[in-house]
Order: sequence, then structure tokens, then C-alpha cells
Amino acid sequence: MFIRLLLCGALVTAAPSTLAMTLYKSIDANGVVIYSDWHTPGAQAFVIQQRSVERVHRPLPQAPIPRDTPHAYRYPLPWRGGPFRLTQGPNGSFSHTDPRSRYAMDIAMPEGTPIIAARGGVVVKTENQQAGRGGDASGNFVRVQHDDGTQGVYLHLRQGSVSVKVGQRVVVGSPLGLSGNTGNSSGPHLHFVVQRATEAGLVSIPYEFNQPVGALPNFALGN
Ligand SMILES: [Zn+2]
Repeated sequence: MFIRLLLCGALVTAAPSTLAMTLYKSIDANGVVIYSDWHTPGAQAFVIQQRSVERVHRPLPQAPIPRDTPHAYRYPLPWRGGPFRLTQGPNGSFSHTDPRSRYAMDIAMPEGTPIIAARGGVVVKTENQQAGRGGDASGNFVRVQHDDGTQGVYLHLRQGSVSVKVGQRVVVGSPLGLSGNTGNSSGPHLHFVVQRATEAGLVSIPYEFNQPVGALPNFALGN
């Protein structure tokens, strides 16, 4: 993946002149072929010219899949109470169409429902002052950065209800605020999305809850 990004960038930036870059090919203990722009002992060096870049583009080695992919974590329902109803799922045609929200889920719930962290991490951004539709489509929100670098975002919260501060560490079940209907929201609901920072900005990534949205409250979690 790293090399793929590198080469894409090179294609864009190297336009009129000839591109030459040195890559190092090595094979790790598991037999996985690795290409890197860092030299390691025993690595085979070769130079890529611009015309060959596109050929290299196709047969790129598959990076080993990390054991702990973001998809592996199953999110507890981030609220207390319920059961509630999923009103818009991933790829929802109403508003889950752009890269930042494609895999978001909307759950209709009464305003004032306690919203809790579905995954531990550090609060990196909040908004708590927006009244009604306001200027920001997200309304009031809490953004939590998880330890794997992904971020969980809880949108449309009630004005003045956000109870965490930037820099604060939260664990699963930590109260974040109360649900609301602020920002670009057509009715009281929580919009919960998991995002990852990329070169192109924040993009949403698929996630799964660890039980059906319409399930009864999860008393094991205290909600
Ligand atoms: Zn939504």
C-alpha cells in the first residue's frame, strides 16, 4: 500500500521530466516480497524510470494483512436505552454518499438519549455550542481517536450536552453527551461513523456493531 501511494504520487508530480527512483526488494521471514525505498541488508536495489512506473503499478505485491484490522473490532451500541431503529445505513442514498460518511449509520432515538463511547481512545475534537441547524452540518459532536489511528465520530448531539474535553481519554461506555437533532439532521438521531485519515483527507471505513441495532439494551455493558 505504501509503495502504491508512493508511485501514484510520483506519477502525478513527475509529469514532464523523467522520473528515476530507487526501490529495494527483499523477502521477509514469511516469504512475503517487500518493496521499500529504504535499504535493508540483503535487499535488491533497482531503479524505476517513469515509463516503467505504470508497469510496476499492476503487479504490485500484496502487503501482508495486519492481524488487527480496523474491521475486526465490533462496536458495542454507543447509547444507553433502546431498542432503537436504524434509519440510514452504509451507502444510504439520502446523505451517506460522500467518502467521509459512506459507511455511517443513522439511528433514530429520542433527543436526550445518553451517548457513550463505543471504543476507547482520546477525544480529539468536540463541538458543543451549535443551536439547531447552525452552520456545521455535523451539529454538535465528539470525535474520539482510537489506539489504531481510526476515529469514531458521534454527530448531531444536543447543544450543551457534550461532557468530554479534547485530550480526555475515554473507555467503552464513557458518557460523551446526549443525542440531539443539530446540524444537517432531519429528525432526532445519532449519526455514528468510523473514519481514517488518508492523504485525501478523512474517509469513512466499514464497521459493524456487535449486536443488531434494534436489539434490546445491552445490560452486560450497563446500557
Ligand atoms: Zn447520517
